[in-house]
Amino acid sequence: MKICWIGLGNMGLPMAAHLHTAGHDVIGVDLSPDARDAAVAAGLRTADSAATAADGADAVITMLPKGAHVRAALLESGTLDAADADALVLDCSTISATEAREVGAAVAATGRRFLDAPVSGGTAGAQNAALTFMVGGASADLDAARPLLELMGARIFHAGETGAGQSAKMVNNMMLAMNMQSTCEAAVLAERLGITPQTVIDIAGVSTGDSWALRNYYPVAGPVASAPSNRDFTGGFSVALMRKDLGLALDAAAAHGVDTAATAEVARRLEGLIADGRGSLDFSSLIHLVDGTVPAASVGGAR
Ligand code: NAD
Repeated sequence: MKICWIGLGNMGLPMAAHLHTAGHDVIGVDLSPDARDAAVAAGLRTADSAATAADGADAVITMLPKGAHVRAALLESGTLDAADADALVLDCSTISATEAREVGAAVAATGRRFLDAPVSGGTAGAQNAALTFMVGGASADLDAARPLLELMGARIFHAGETGAGQSAKMVNNMMLAMNMQSTCEAAVLAERLGITPQTVIDIAGVSTGDSWALRNYYPVAGPVASAPSNRDFTGGFSVALMRKDLGLALDAAAAHGVDTAATAEVARRLEGLIADGRGSLDFSSLIHLVDGTVPAASVGGAR
């Protein structure tokens, strides 16, 4: 297939590279010259504009930070019109369900097919083609997209109508954020009590404190080689993007009368890290507010 891939960041580049390796003709687009250079180094072709990359494409895939970027890339740049009249349009970014439905309706109005297909699994999942896809849209469209998704992921769930993939992703990330906050608090306390990080993982990982954050993303350097804590919290899933996801969750919760006190507290802490200039670090750097590296004043005094 000819595939236009828009967004070659921490997630997008390794995902696009799997499609390229499988023999698809992938043309990548990114606003950042560094991201385009990395794509070329990975063997991908790149184009200067999404409309150029989408010319005659069978599929257009977006992996962008926010809904506004998805809207700009797909709806405000001539991209859709350039793609094949029956093209599959997949948005793998995490955006709100409302935005997904709006973009989906705009795509459908051109006769093309849209699926929201956000992912879970982090950058390691993207690199190892082990992502979980949560898909919203028509079953027939998912069947058409499945061969592509299977090249990038290990599990594919049909969550429901357009937007349902985003709703599922949103509640997943609420839990991830809170699991990470609790893992950070436990990790720092355990260290101060003289328990090694590996011992915490060995015991809690098979006990009731278990979580993905504990086993795959431990916020103290050492035991989990692939965790961002081992590379000074660079790469991974940024504080700014997790703050965005919790904002989507808090908006949805407010609209549906759900008390999400813990989500609000973690969002406040992420906001503090952003205010301290740490928005591009991985979100497991929440530990810096727990261990005192970042002063409590950064999040309004509480710690
Ligand atoms: P990233 O910031 O590393 O990459 C985004 C890329 O999009 C950047 O290279 C940026 O230059 C590019 N971009 C922005 N606007 C553009 C436009 N209009 N046209 C072309 N390129 C544009 O982000 P990421 O970590 O790869 O995350 C992408 C999406 O995936 C986000 O919605 C995020 O919430 C979600 N996500 C991330 C992870 C993770 O672990 N990083 C996990 C699951 C889901």
